[in-house]
Amino acid sequence: MAQEIHDMMKDTALVADLSEHAKDAALLNGVLMRTKEAPNSSEVVSYAPFTLFPTPVPKAVFLQALEVQTHYNRLVDKISQSADFLEEALSSTVEVDEFTSRLFKIHKQILKEGRSQSVVLGLNRSDYMLDQKEDGASALKQIEINTISASFGGLSAGIVSVHKHVLKVAGRLKDSMAILDNNPAAGLARAIAKAKELYGSDRAVVLVLVSDTERNIYDQRCVEMELMKLNIFTIRRTFEDVHSRGSLDQEKRLLIDGMEVAVVYYRNGYVPQQYASQQDWDTRLMLERSHAIKCPDIATHLTGTKKIQQVLAQPGVLERFFPNEPQVVEQIRATFAGLYTLDMGPEGDKTVAMALKDPERYVLKPQREGGGNNIYGDEICKVLQEAKGSERTMYILMDKIKPTPSQNYLLRRDSPLTVSNCLSELGVFGAYVRQGTEMVMNEQVGHLLRTKSSVHADGGVAAGVAVLDNPLLY
Ligand code: ADP
Ligand code: MG
Repeated sequence: MAQEIHDMMKDTALVADLSEHAKDAALLNGVLMRTKEAPNSSEVVSYAPFTLFPTPVPKAVFLQALEVQTHYNRLVDKISQSADFLEEALSSTVEVDEFTSRLFKIHKQILKEGRSQSVVLGLNRSDYMLDQKEDGASALKQIEINTISASFGGLSAGIVSVHKHVLKVAGRLKDSMAILDNNPAAGLARAIAKAKELYGSDRAVVLVLVSDTERNIYDQRCVEMELMKLNIFTIRRTFEDVHSRGSLDQEKRLLIDGMEVAVVYYRNGYVPQQYASQQDWDTRLMLERSHAIKCPDIATHLTGTKKIQQVLAQPGVLERFFPNEPQVVEQIRATFAGLYTLDMGPEGDKTVAMALKDPERYVLKPQREGGGNNIYGDEICKVLQEAKGSERTMYILMDKIKPTPSQNYLLRRDSPLTVSNCLSELGVFGAYVRQGTEMVMNEQVGHLLRTKSSVHADGGVAAGVAVLDNPLLY
Protein backbone atom coordinates (compact mmCIF):
# COMPACT_ATOMS: atom_id res chain seq x y z
CA MET A 1 0.00 0.00 0.00
CA ALA A 2 2.81 2.41 0.87
CA GLN A 3 4.20 1.98 -2.62
CA GLU A 4 0.79 2.62 -4.24
CA ILE A 5 0.34 5.82 -2.23
CA HIS A 6 3.81 6.84 -3.24
CA ASP A 7 2.92 6.32 -6.90
CA MET A 8 -0.28 8.33 -6.56
CA MET A 9 1.72 11.23 -5.13
CA LYS A 10 3.63 11.57 -8.36
CA ASP A 11 0.44 12.09 -10.38
CA THR A 12 -0.06 15.81 -9.87
CA ALA A 13 -3.45 15.96 -11.60
CA LEU A 14 -4.74 13.15 -9.38
CA VAL A 15 -3.30 14.83 -6.27
CA ALA A 16 -4.99 18.12 -7.15
CA ASP A 17 -8.32 16.37 -7.65
CA LEU A 18 -8.00 14.29 -4.48
CA SER A 19 -7.09 17.32 -2.42
CA GLU A 20 -10.32 19.09 -3.45
CA HIS A 21 -12.29 16.00 -2.49
CA ALA A 22 -10.34 15.79 0.75
CA LYS A 23 -11.00 19.39 1.78
CA ASP A 24 -14.70 19.08 1.12
CA ALA A 25 -14.79 15.81 3.06
CA ALA A 26 -13.01 17.55 5.95
CA LEU A 27 -15.60 20.34 5.97
CA LEU A 28 -18.48 17.87 5.77
CA ASN A 29 -17.06 15.69 8.53
CA GLY A 30 -16.37 18.49 10.97
CA VAL A 31 -12.58 18.55 10.75
CA LEU A 32 -12.75 22.27 11.42
CA MET A 33 -10.81 25.08 12.94
CA ARG A 34 -11.51 28.76 13.31
CA THR A 35 -9.39 31.01 11.16
CA LYS A 36 -6.63 33.35 12.27
CA GLU A 37 -8.66 36.24 10.85
CA ALA A 38 -11.75 35.38 12.88
CA PRO A 39 -10.54 33.41 15.89
CA ASN A 40 -13.74 34.07 17.84
CA SER A 41 -16.28 33.51 15.13
CA SER A 42 -18.10 30.48 13.80
CA GLU A 43 -19.34 32.52 10.83
CA VAL A 44 -16.14 31.96 8.89
CA VAL A 45 -14.39 28.66 9.45
CA SER A 46 -12.02 26.46 7.54
CA TYR A 47 -10.81 22.91 7.67
CA ALA A 48 -8.22 21.96 10.28
CA PRO A 49 -4.94 21.12 8.51
CA PHE A 50 -4.46 17.47 7.58
CA THR A 51 -2.50 15.11 5.34
CA LEU A 52 -3.88 14.11 1.97
CA PHE A 53 -2.96 10.45 2.56
CA PRO A 54 -2.79 8.31 5.69
CA THR A 55 0.70 7.39 6.89
CA PRO A 56 1.96 3.80 7.11
CA VAL A 57 2.63 2.75 10.72
CA PRO A 58 3.87 -0.72 11.76
CA LYS A 59 1.04 -2.63 13.38
CA ALA A 60 3.19 -4.09 16.17
CA VAL A 61 4.31 -0.72 17.57
CA PHE A 62 0.83 0.72 17.17
CA LEU A 63 -0.63 -2.11 19.25
CA GLN A 64 2.20 -1.73 21.76
CA ALA A 65 1.21 1.91 22.27
CA LEU A 66 -2.45 1.00 22.78
CA GLU A 67 -1.60 -1.78 25.20
CA VAL A 68 0.63 0.25 27.50
CA GLN A 69 -1.96 3.03 27.89
CA THR A 70 -3.89 1.60 30.85
CA HIS A 71 -0.57 1.15 32.65
CA TYR A 72 0.27 4.79 31.97
CA ASN A 73 -3.13 5.76 33.34
CA ARG A 74 -2.37 3.93 36.56
CA LEU A 75 1.13 5.39 36.73
CA VAL A 76 -0.11 8.95 36.37
CA ASP A 77 -2.75 8.31 39.00
CA LYS A 78 -0.27 6.77 41.44
CA ILE A 79 2.22 9.62 41.03
CA SER A 80 -0.51 12.19 41.60
CA GLN A 81 -1.19 10.58 44.97
CA SER A 82 2.48 10.46 45.99
CA ALA A 83 3.03 13.86 47.53
CA ASP A 84 6.55 13.00 48.72
CA PHE A 85 7.62 11.80 45.29
CA LEU A 86 6.23 14.90 43.56
CA GLU A 87 7.92 17.19 46.05
CA GLU A 88 11.27 15.48 45.77
CA ALA A 89 11.18 15.17 41.98
CA LEU A 90 10.10 18.75 41.37
CA SER A 91 12.13 20.48 44.10
CA SER A 92 15.02 21.60 41.87
CA THR A 93 12.72 22.77 39.06
CA VAL A 94 10.32 24.78 41.20
CA GLU A 95 13.23 26.81 42.52
CA VAL A 96 13.95 28.28 39.09
CA ASP A 97 10.80 27.85 37.03
CA GLU A 98 8.15 30.34 38.05
CA PHE A 99 5.22 28.67 36.31
CA THR A 100 5.83 25.23 37.79
CA SER A 101 6.48 26.89 41.12
CA ARG A 102 3.08 28.61 41.09
CA LEU A 103 1.33 25.36 40.25
CA PHE A 104 3.29 23.66 42.99
CA LYS A 105 2.23 26.29 45.53
CA ILE A 106 -1.42 25.53 44.78
CA HIS A 107 -0.66 21.82 45.15
CA LYS A 108 0.91 22.43 48.59
CA GLN A 109 -2.05 24.51 49.67
CA ILE A 110 -4.46 21.73 48.69
CA LEU A 111 -2.38 19.15 50.54
CA LYS A 112 -2.47 21.36 53.63
CA GLU A 113 -6.23 21.82 53.48
CA GLY A 114 -6.92 18.24 52.48
CA ARG A 115 -8.51 17.22 49.17
CA SER A 116 -12.23 17.90 49.24
CA GLN A 117 -13.14 15.32 46.61
CA SER A 118 -12.36 11.60 46.59
CA VAL A 119 -13.29 11.06 42.93
CA VAL A 120 -10.44 11.53 40.43
CA LEU A 121 -10.92 11.88 36.69
CA GLY A 122 -7.90 11.56 34.40
CA LEU A 123 -7.93 12.20 30.66
CA ASN A 124 -4.49 12.06 29.15
CA ARG A 125 -2.66 11.49 25.90
CA SER A 126 0.67 9.75 25.67
CA ASP A 127 2.64 10.80 22.58
CA TYR A 128 5.25 8.73 20.78
CA MET A 129 7.56 8.76 17.82
CA LEU A 130 8.95 5.67 16.18
CA ASP A 131 12.71 5.68 16.52
CA GLN A 132 14.45 4.10 13.58
CA LYS A 133 16.77 1.38 14.78
CA GLU A 134 19.93 0.32 12.95
CA ASP A 135 18.32 -2.89 11.71
CA GLY A 136 15.55 -0.87 10.05
CA ALA A 137 12.89 -1.77 12.63
CA SER A 138 11.24 0.98 14.63
CA ALA A 139 10.98 1.36 18.38
CA LEU A 140 8.10 3.10 20.14
CA LYS A 141 9.52 5.98 22.21
CA GLN A 142 7.44 8.31 24.32
CA ILE A 143 7.80 12.02 23.56
CA GLU A 144 5.72 13.14 26.53
CA ILE A 145 2.46 12.51 28.35
CA ASN A 146 -0.15 15.26 28.43
CA THR A 147 -2.22 15.26 31.60
CA ILE A 148 -4.03 18.54 30.98
CA SER A 149 -6.00 19.74 27.95
CA ALA A 150 -4.93 16.82 25.78
CA SER A 151 -6.50 17.86 22.50
CA PHE A 152 -7.67 16.42 19.14
CA GLY A 153 -9.72 13.60 20.67
CA GLY A 154 -12.61 15.25 18.85
CA LEU A 155 -11.29 15.98 15.37
CA SER A 156 -9.64 12.54 15.19
CA ALA A 157 -12.99 10.96 14.38
CA GLY A 158 -13.71 13.12 11.34
CA ILE A 159 -10.31 12.60 9.80
CA VAL A 160 -11.05 8.86 9.61
CA SER A 161 -13.95 9.59 7.24
CA VAL A 162 -11.80 11.97 5.21
CA HIS A 163 -9.05 9.45 4.47
CA LYS A 164 -11.56 6.66 3.82
CA HIS A 165 -13.22 8.94 1.29
CA VAL A 166 -9.95 9.98 -0.37
CA LEU A 167 -8.87 6.37 -0.82
CA LYS A 168 -12.25 5.45 -2.25
CA VAL A 169 -12.12 8.34 -4.73
CA ALA A 170 -8.66 7.08 -5.69
CA GLY A 171 -10.21 3.69 -6.43
CA ARG A 172 -8.66 1.96 -3.40
CA LEU A 173 -11.79 0.63 -1.71
CA LYS A 174 -10.05 -2.17 0.15
CA ASP A 175 -7.38 0.12 1.57
CA SER A 176 -10.02 2.60 2.65
CA MET A 177 -11.57 -0.12 4.79
CA ALA A 178 -8.23 -0.66 6.52
CA ILE A 179 -8.37 2.79 8.16
CA LEU A 180 -9.27 2.15 11.77
CA ASP A 181 -12.35 3.66 13.31
CA ASN A 182 -11.44 6.09 16.02
CA ASN A 183 -13.51 8.33 18.25
CA PRO A 184 -11.55 9.31 21.36
CA ALA A 185 -14.09 12.03 22.26
CA ALA A 186 -16.71 9.37 22.98
CA GLY A 187 -14.40 7.65 25.46
CA LEU A 188 -13.36 10.93 27.07
CA ALA A 189 -17.04 11.82 27.45
CA ARG A 190 -17.82 8.41 28.97
CA ALA A 191 -15.18 8.99 31.64
CA ILE A 192 -16.46 12.50 32.35
CA ALA A 193 -19.98 11.07 32.59
CA LYS A 194 -18.82 8.38 35.03
CA ALA A 195 -17.15 11.00 37.20
CA LYS A 196 -20.25 13.15 37.10
CA GLU A 197 -22.40 10.21 38.14
CA LEU A 198 -20.12 9.58 41.12
CA TYR A 199 -20.30 13.25 42.04
CA GLY A 200 -23.90 12.47 42.73
CA SER A 201 -26.06 15.36 41.59
CA ASP A 202 -28.40 15.08 38.62
CA ARG A 203 -28.65 18.80 38.14
CA ALA A 204 -24.92 19.58 38.31
CA VAL A 205 -23.13 20.49 35.08
CA VAL A 206 -19.71 20.00 33.50
CA LEU A 207 -17.72 23.21 33.26
CA VAL A 208 -15.26 23.38 30.37
CA LEU A 209 -12.64 25.91 31.40
CA VAL A 210 -11.65 27.72 28.20
CA SER A 211 -9.72 30.75 26.98
CA ASP A 212 -11.64 33.63 25.44
CA THR A 213 -9.99 33.05 22.07
CA GLU A 214 -10.09 29.43 20.93
CA ARG A 215 -9.47 28.47 17.34
CA ASN A 216 -9.62 24.79 18.20
CA ILE A 217 -13.16 25.06 19.58
CA TYR A 218 -14.67 22.35 17.36
CA ASP A 219 -12.38 19.74 18.86
CA GLN A 220 -13.75 20.71 22.29
CA ARG A 221 -17.31 20.83 20.99
CA CYS A 222 -16.99 17.18 19.92
CA VAL A 223 -16.49 16.19 23.57
CA GLU A 224 -19.37 18.45 24.62
CA MET A 225 -21.63 16.84 22.02
CA GLU A 226 -20.67 13.34 23.09
CA LEU A 227 -21.60 14.42 26.61
CA MET A 228 -24.92 15.79 25.42
CA LYS A 229 -25.68 12.39 23.85
CA LEU A 230 -25.38 11.07 27.42
CA ASN A 231 -27.72 13.87 28.55
CA ILE A 232 -24.94 15.71 30.34
CA PHE A 233 -24.98 19.45 30.05
CA THR A 234 -21.78 21.44 29.64
CA ILE A 235 -21.06 25.12 30.10
CA ARG A 236 -18.03 26.97 28.79
CA ARG A 237 -16.45 29.53 31.10
CA THR A 238 -13.15 31.43 31.32
CA PHE A 239 -11.08 32.10 34.44
CA GLU A 240 -12.53 35.62 34.33
CA ASP A 241 -16.12 34.28 34.28
CA VAL A 242 -15.41 32.00 37.22
CA HIS A 243 -13.79 34.84 39.11
CA SER A 244 -16.63 37.28 38.60
CA ARG A 245 -19.63 34.95 38.84
CA GLY A 246 -18.42 31.77 40.55
CA SER A 247 -18.22 30.94 44.24
CA LEU A 248 -17.79 28.13 46.73
CA ASP A 249 -20.54 27.49 49.24
CA GLN A 250 -19.97 26.25 52.80
CA GLU A 251 -19.49 22.68 51.60
CA LYS A 252 -17.04 23.96 48.97
CA ARG A 253 -19.52 23.21 46.20
CA LEU A 254 -18.61 25.19 43.09
CA LEU A 255 -21.47 27.38 41.90
CA ILE A 256 -21.64 29.59 38.83
CA ASP A 257 -24.58 31.43 37.27
CA GLY A 258 -26.93 29.52 39.55
CA MET A 259 -25.58 26.10 38.54
CA GLU A 260 -23.62 23.58 40.56
CA VAL A 261 -20.49 22.25 38.85
CA ALA A 262 -19.75 18.52 39.11
CA VAL A 263 -16.67 18.41 36.87
CA VAL A 264 -14.17 21.06 35.81
CA TYR A 265 -12.62 20.00 32.49
CA TYR A 266 -9.59 22.22 31.80
CA ARG A 267 -8.98 23.13 28.17
CA ASN A 268 -6.96 26.12 29.32
CA GLY A 269 -4.48 26.92 32.09
CA TYR A 270 -1.49 24.88 30.94
CA VAL A 271 0.84 27.70 29.82
CA PRO A 272 1.89 30.87 31.70
CA GLN A 273 0.24 33.23 29.18
CA GLN A 274 -3.16 31.74 30.02
CA TYR A 275 -2.89 33.27 33.50
CA ALA A 276 -3.17 36.94 32.68
CA SER A 277 -2.95 38.14 36.27
CA GLN A 278 -2.87 37.11 39.91
CA GLN A 279 -6.65 36.99 39.69
CA ASP A 280 -6.48 34.02 37.29
CA TRP A 281 -4.12 32.22 39.67
CA ASP A 282 -6.52 32.91 42.53
CA THR A 283 -9.32 31.47 40.40
CA ARG A 284 -7.29 28.32 39.67
CA LEU A 285 -6.80 27.93 43.43
CA MET A 286 -10.50 28.37 44.03
CA LEU A 287 -11.33 25.68 41.46
CA GLU A 288 -8.79 23.32 43.01
CA ARG A 289 -10.18 23.89 46.50
CA SER A 290 -13.71 23.18 45.35
CA HIS A 291 -15.63 19.96 45.80
CA ALA A 292 -15.97 19.69 42.00
CA ILE A 293 -14.00 16.90 40.29
CA LYS A 294 -11.09 18.52 38.52
CA CYS A 295 -9.74 17.10 35.28
CA PRO A 296 -6.93 17.18 36.01
CA ASP A 297 -6.50 18.01 39.67
CA ILE A 298 -3.40 20.05 40.41
CA ALA A 299 -1.31 17.01 41.40
CA THR A 300 -2.14 15.25 38.13
CA HIS A 301 -1.33 18.44 36.21
CA LEU A 302 2.13 18.48 37.83
CA THR A 303 2.57 14.78 37.06
CA GLY A 304 2.58 15.70 33.37
CA THR A 305 5.72 17.86 33.64
CA LYS A 306 8.81 16.89 31.70
CA LYS A 307 10.76 16.81 34.96
CA ILE A 308 8.59 13.96 36.25
CA GLN A 309 9.07 12.13 32.96
CA GLN A 310 12.84 12.39 33.39
CA VAL A 311 12.82 11.24 37.03
CA LEU A 312 10.67 8.22 36.11
CA ALA A 313 13.37 7.05 33.72
CA GLN A 314 15.93 6.75 36.54
CA PRO A 315 16.70 3.22 37.70
CA GLY A 316 14.34 1.82 40.31
CA VAL A 317 11.73 4.59 40.14
CA LEU A 318 9.04 2.73 38.20
CA GLU A 319 9.50 -0.20 40.58
CA ARG A 320 8.45 2.07 43.44
CA PHE A 321 5.05 2.47 41.80
CA PHE A 322 4.61 -1.12 40.64
CA PRO A 323 6.52 -3.15 43.26
CA ASN A 324 4.85 -6.45 42.39
CA GLU A 325 4.29 -5.97 38.68
CA PRO A 326 7.57 -6.41 36.79
CA GLN A 327 5.61 -6.93 33.55
CA VAL A 328 4.04 -3.49 33.84
CA VAL A 329 7.38 -1.89 34.66
CA GLU A 330 8.92 -3.54 31.65
CA GLN A 331 6.12 -2.48 29.29
CA ILE A 332 6.29 1.14 30.40
CA ARG A 333 10.09 1.30 30.48
CA ALA A 334 10.33 -0.10 26.95
CA THR A 335 8.76 3.17 25.72
CA PHE A 336 11.27 5.47 27.46
CA ALA A 337 13.86 7.32 25.43
CA GLY A 338 17.09 8.39 27.13
CA LEU A 339 16.25 11.16 29.64
CA TYR A 340 18.87 13.02 31.64
CA THR A 341 18.80 15.23 34.71
CA LEU A 342 20.16 18.76 34.72
CA ASP A 343 20.01 19.08 38.50
CA MET A 344 23.02 20.71 40.12
CA GLY A 345 25.68 18.12 40.99
CA PRO A 346 27.91 15.59 39.27
CA GLU A 347 25.13 13.79 37.40
CA GLY A 348 23.80 17.06 35.95
CA ASP A 349 27.35 18.13 35.07
CA LYS A 350 27.75 14.90 33.15
CA THR A 351 24.56 15.65 31.22
CA VAL A 352 25.84 19.11 30.31
CA ALA A 353 29.17 17.71 29.08
CA MET A 354 27.34 15.11 27.01
CA ALA A 355 25.05 17.72 25.42
CA LEU A 356 27.88 20.13 24.63
CA LYS A 357 29.87 17.38 22.97
CA ASP A 358 27.11 16.30 20.58
CA PRO A 359 24.07 18.62 20.72
CA GLU A 360 22.52 17.16 17.57
CA ARG A 361 21.77 13.96 19.47
CA TYR A 362 19.51 15.67 22.01
CA VAL A 363 16.52 17.90 22.70
CA LEU A 364 16.58 20.36 25.60
CA LYS A 365 13.10 20.68 27.08
CA PRO A 366 11.68 23.26 29.50
CA GLN A 367 8.59 22.65 31.66
CA ARG A 368 6.21 23.96 29.01
CA GLU A 369 3.34 22.69 26.91
CA GLY A 370 1.77 23.57 23.61
CA GLY A 371 4.70 23.16 21.24
CA GLY A 372 7.49 25.44 20.07
CA ASN A 373 9.38 25.57 23.37
CA ASN A 374 12.09 22.98 22.90
CA ILE A 375 15.69 23.78 22.11
CA TYR A 376 17.78 22.01 19.48
CA GLY A 377 21.31 21.89 18.05
CA ASP A 378 23.79 24.70 18.77
CA GLU A 379 21.14 26.59 20.69
CA ILE A 380 21.39 23.84 23.35
CA CYS A 381 25.08 24.71 23.88
CA LYS A 382 24.29 28.40 24.08
CA VAL A 383 21.55 27.94 26.68
CA LEU A 384 23.56 25.55 28.83
CA GLN A 385 26.73 27.65 28.68
CA GLU A 386 24.90 30.86 29.52
CA ALA A 387 22.74 29.39 32.31
CA LYS A 388 23.46 31.19 35.57
CA GLY A 389 23.36 29.61 39.01
CA SER A 390 20.94 26.71 38.95
CA GLU A 391 18.95 27.96 35.92
CA ARG A 392 19.68 24.77 33.97
CA THR A 393 17.40 22.82 36.31
CA MET A 394 14.35 24.28 34.59
CA TYR A 395 15.17 21.94 31.68
CA ILE A 396 15.64 18.25 31.09
CA LEU A 397 17.72 16.70 28.33
CA MET A 398 16.29 13.98 26.13
CA ASP A 399 17.62 11.79 23.34
CA LYS A 400 16.38 13.03 19.99
CA ILE A 401 14.07 10.48 18.41
CA LYS A 402 14.72 9.96 14.72
CA PRO A 403 11.70 8.51 12.93
CA THR A 404 11.82 7.32 9.35
CA PRO A 405 10.52 10.16 7.17
CA SER A 406 7.65 9.55 4.78
CA GLN A 407 6.27 11.70 2.00
CA ASN A 408 2.86 13.31 2.03
CA TYR A 409 0.91 16.40 1.06
CA LEU A 410 0.05 18.66 3.98
CA LEU A 411 -3.26 20.38 3.26
CA ARG A 412 -3.32 23.71 4.96
CA ARG A 413 -5.36 26.75 4.09
CA ASP A 414 -3.53 29.12 1.75
CA SER A 415 -0.58 26.76 1.37
CA PRO A 416 0.65 25.50 -1.99
CA LEU A 417 0.07 21.85 -2.85
CA THR A 418 3.59 20.45 -2.58
CA VAL A 419 4.94 17.16 -1.40
CA SER A 420 6.74 17.29 1.96
CA ASN A 421 9.17 15.07 3.73
CA CYS A 422 7.27 14.24 6.92
CA LEU A 423 7.65 12.89 10.43
CA SER A 424 4.70 11.53 12.40
CA GLU A 425 3.79 11.42 16.09
CA LEU A 426 1.32 8.90 17.47
CA GLY A 427 -0.80 9.78 20.49
CA VAL A 428 -2.91 7.42 22.56
CA PHE A 429 -5.77 8.68 24.71
CA GLY A 430 -6.27 7.30 28.20
CA ALA A 431 -9.27 7.81 30.47
CA TYR A 432 -9.68 6.72 34.05
CA VAL A 433 -11.88 7.38 37.05
CA ARG A 434 -10.97 6.52 40.61
CA GLN A 435 -13.24 6.71 43.61
CA GLY A 436 -11.27 6.58 46.83
CA THR A 437 -8.98 3.59 46.41
CA GLU A 438 -11.01 1.91 43.70
CA MET A 439 -10.34 2.34 39.97
CA VAL A 440 -13.81 2.29 38.50
CA MET A 441 -12.71 2.94 34.92
CA ASN A 442 -9.32 2.55 33.24
CA GLU A 443 -9.33 2.52 29.45
CA GLN A 444 -7.47 3.32 26.28
CA VAL A 445 -10.02 5.30 24.28
CA GLY A 446 -8.47 6.00 20.91
CA HIS A 447 -5.52 7.44 19.07
CA LEU A 448 -4.24 10.45 17.16
CA LEU A 449 -1.68 10.65 14.40
CA ARG A 450 -0.09 14.00 13.71
CA THR A 451 2.35 14.61 10.90
CA LYS A 452 4.66 17.53 10.24
CA SER A 453 7.22 18.51 7.68
CA SER A 454 10.67 17.37 8.79
CA VAL A 455 11.97 20.93 8.41
CA HIS A 456 10.21 21.73 11.69
CA ALA A 457 11.85 20.32 14.80
CA ASP A 458 8.95 21.15 17.06
CA GLY A 459 5.31 22.12 17.31
CA GLY A 460 1.81 20.67 17.32
CA VAL A 461 -1.33 21.18 15.25
CA ALA A 462 -2.50 24.14 17.30
CA ALA A 463 0.95 25.70 16.93
CA GLY A 464 0.42 25.54 13.15
CA VAL A 465 3.16 23.01 12.42
CA ALA A 466 1.70 19.51 12.57
CA VAL A 467 -1.46 18.36 10.78
CA LEU A 468 -4.01 15.63 11.45
CA ASP A 469 -3.43 12.20 9.98
CA ASN A 470 -4.41 8.52 10.28
CA PRO A 471 -2.20 5.48 10.68
CA LEU A 472 -2.40 2.91 7.92
CA LEU A 473 -1.22 -0.25 9.65
CA TYR A 474 1.11 -2.68 7.94
P1 ADP B 1 4.91 20.13 24.17
O1 ADP B 1 4.46 19.95 25.55
O2 ADP B 1 5.29 21.52 23.84
O3 ADP B 1 3.97 19.50 23.18
P2 ADP B 1 6.70 17.97 23.41
O4 ADP B 1 7.54 17.21 24.35
O5 ADP B 1 5.53 17.25 22.87
O6 ADP B 1 6.30 19.32 24.11
O7 ADP B 1 7.58 18.48 22.22
C1 ADP B 1 7.04 19.22 21.15
C2 ADP B 1 7.44 18.61 19.82
O8 ADP B 1 8.87 18.55 19.72
C3 ADP B 1 6.97 17.19 19.64
O9 ADP B 1 5.67 17.16 19.12
C4 ADP B 1 8.01 16.63 18.68
O10 ADP B 1 7.70 17.01 17.35
C5 ADP B 1 9.28 17.36 19.09
N1 ADP B 1 10.05 16.55 20.07
C6 ADP B 1 9.93 16.57 21.40
N2 ADP B 1 10.75 15.70 22.00
C7 ADP B 1 11.44 15.12 21.00
C8 ADP B 1 12.46 14.13 20.97
N3 ADP B 1 12.94 13.58 22.06
N4 ADP B 1 12.94 13.76 19.75
C9 ADP B 1 12.46 14.32 18.61
N5 ADP B 1 11.50 15.26 18.58
C10 ADP B 1 11.01 15.66 19.76
MG1 MG C 1 3.57 17.56 22.79
